[in-house]
Amino acid sequence: MSETPMRVRAVVDLAALRANVRTLKARARGAQLMAVVKADAYGHGALPCARAAREAGAEWVGTALPQEALALRAAGDTGRLMCWLWTPGDPWREAVEADIDVSVSGLWALDEVTAAVRACGRPARVQLKIDTGLGRNGCQPGDWEQLVAAARAAEEAGLLRVTGIWSHFACADEPGHPSIRAQLAVFRDAVGYAERQGLRPEVRHIANSPATLTLPETHFDLVRTGVAMYGISPSPELGTPESLGLRPVMTLTASLASVKRVPGGHGVSYGHQYTTPGETTLALVPVGYADGIPRAASGTGPVLIGGKWRTVAGRVAMDQFVVDLGGDDAKPGDEAVLFGPGDHGEPTAEDWARATGTIAYEVVTRISARVPRVHV
Ligand code: PLP
Repeated sequence: MSETPMRVRAVVDLAALRANVRTLKARARGAQLMAVVKADAYGHGALPCARAAREAGAEWVGTALPQEALALRAAGDTGRLMCWLWTPGDPWREAVEADIDVSVSGLWALDEVTAAVRACGRPARVQLKIDTGLGRNGCQPGDWEQLVAAARAAEEAGLLRVTGIWSHFACADEPGHPSIRAQLAVFRDAVGYAERQGLRPEVRHIANSPATLTLPETHFDLVRTGVAMYGISPSPELGTPESLGLRPVMTLTASLASVKRVPGGHGVSYGHQYTTPGETTLALVPVGYADGIPRAASGTGPVLIGGKWRTVAGRVAMDQFVVDLGGDDAKPGDEAVLFGPGDHGEPTAEDWARATGTIAYEVVTRISARVPRVHV
């Protein structure tokens, strides 16, 4: 959709992203860094963010879906690239031909990848995933011996090379959670076993942003950072972006579509969940849940207008919401800042997460394709 960014825009500060990558690389102390750009770089724009991350020294880029990785290749990304969320029938062959490291969690996936290799005549790069305790994707420890044996046999047959062994944490954002040590122990055992069977992975990895920031013993050869790279704290318990040395990358602003005086007792938006307490000025912000503003922000979402924090009045609708400016004035076209780094008094993505009962990951990721991204 082509739209001049007047109604709403998400300004994406790539210099901040590069600075965050450098900060995270310094935290990783020698481990390589994979920039996680799945879900359109958590809403920030996959291609520009992947490029900026590589410029700042990220050795790897990672996506969830093979289609996301293939889109990066098609756009000219040539570096090490991995994707991990496969469904039967996905484009294994295209991924192998594009030199993408593919994650394999079970024998069905190994069968699909070896069939693709036979079809295209080019060996695959495979990263074996062990479920160390998250309970999502990944090979169960009880099935690990079988998967390692099958991968080793395929490697000896020249069909693939096992480039990595990896896993993912469940509770790395909860300091001291007992599952962290338990997952690490399972991971070390799985890697040790695979290496004794003759596998020689280049990279062993389990750390996400919170682990990169707070758990150096989890860094192994590579860390996979998503949310922190976008300048967002993985959890309030770990600190603010500022205290973690991170700079928020996205600023979401809109232009007021209308401003009008209304009398007291005037119902506002669907369901009339807000009624003006007296004569007042209502400003219309032309963004709604179709743009990714949570409906849960009805009556709670913070917005900076005219240098003051205001709150969404009444329900967030599909395309718009209303703010009661009280005795203050404004005019159509004036700026409303929904969230940003916070250093000009605006709310942050973390403030929106608190106000809407979610996590800051979701606040930025759900900003929809209808909102133009402006990369600066
Ligand atoms: N690795 C995997 C497999 C993921 O799914 C994710 C995101 O959820 C990440 C790494 C990055 O996590 P974070 O955004 O907490 O750094």
